[in-house]
Amino acid sequence: MKKNTYSGIRTIAIHGGEGPDPATNASAPPLHMSSTFVSEEAAGFSAHDLKDDSPWLYARWANPTVSMLEKKIAEIEGVEDALCTASGMAAATAIFMTFLSSGDHVIVSDVSYAGVAELARDTLPRFGIETTFVDMSDLNALNNAVKKNTKLIHIESPVNPILRLTDVRAVKKIANQVGAILSADCTFATPLGMRASKLGIDLIMHSATKYLCGHGDAVGGIIAGSRSLIGKLRLEAGIHHGGVMSPFNAWLIARGVSTLPLRMEAHEKNAMIIANWLEKHPNVTDVKYPGLESHPQHKLAEEQMNNFSAMLSFQVGDESVGKALANKMASKLEVIHYAVSLGHHRSLIFWMPTEELINGSFRLSNIQAKSYKAFAGDGIFRMSVGLEDPEDLILDLERVL
Ligand SMILES: *Cc1c(COP(=O)(O)O)cnc(C)c1O
Repeated sequence: MKKNTYSGIRTIAIHGGEGPDPATNASAPPLHMSSTFVSEEAAGFSAHDLKDDSPWLYARWANPTVSMLEKKIAEIEGVEDALCTASGMAAATAIFMTFLSSGDHVIVSDVSYAGVAELARDTLPRFGIETTFVDMSDLNALNNAVKKNTKLIHIESPVNPILRLTDVRAVKKIANQVGAILSADCTFATPLGMRASKLGIDLIMHSATKYLCGHGDAVGGIIAGSRSLIGKLRLEAGIHHGGVMSPFNAWLIARGVSTLPLRMEAHEKNAMIIANWLEKHPNVTDVKYPGLESHPQHKLAEEQMNNFSAMLSFQVGDESVGKALANKMASKLEVIHYAVSLGHHRSLIFWMPTEELINGSFRLSNIQAKSYKAFAGDGIFRMSVGLEDPEDLILDLERVL
């Protein structure tokens, strides 16, 4: 493969994985919707025959538009390879089902994206996989949880929805003691917020539905890492389990990724303005944003993050006050959409009641519940600060607060 002469992240986001189309000289990347490709010779039909230089054969194995996005992300993350999946959840499932077998032990962050939390608690044990859930900001707890058969440690930083951070370098040291793979859901941080491979993450996972796409119009997932780990994922999760990304979504997401560095600068700027404004508001009792000095792990955020991204949470009082405000938001907000999801150019906000989450998705008790409540009180508004004018976002929030 030709080696690039450029190294700037904005250049890589735009040109990585792409180039003028050899068939037409088109400057923009082509969208190849084809599910199959005409063979020039009789070829094998086992996934085990797939090589780096294999011709295009069938779109579940590889598709030129999807491969273009995979190369772009691998270049941005500074790793050898990447695999696109149908959704962020398909990426998480791919990691668990490729690298864990019956009798293996996995340690998963006690708080995580709710779908991942439920998958790890409800599905993995059915396959004979032993699970432990650990507050990853408590390194003693993690040290006590690792065992000889720990094959995988799965973290998320900042963690959805409470924005607690994980010291990735410290977790990597613990993973190395038992030779466990370290996978991290980096959706909130984005490739710009954390230089994941430099911090030692083996499998860098994103819900591409969020910041990578950036416009709220495509669902997808991605995992980036070494050629050998991604090769295993491509064989099992891609070709056999089959949760691959559609070329159309890959094309939309690649278009989004081209402006990711610029968008993240603007997202962070807006989030900082909103977080500071919320912190001063008399009806707001608490704000959590890694970029604020008041964040309990702000120092770690400064050490480990290059961009604080634009996810923040705030509290307004007890559960009933929060719920009443959520209802008001749903009917009165004009610019900010009261909706789940995040990372879009449009600002999004959603109410996350603590009791429901810690009893439903996370099933936390004792010190884990206490740590959750230290970040989230009785409930939080999770806000994904978009790219609108901050003055308009403030007017919108002022209207309801
Ligand atoms: C949205 C999200 C997911 C799941 O991604 P989908 O694309 O919705 O399947 C996983 N992790 C995090 C942190 C998310 O925000």
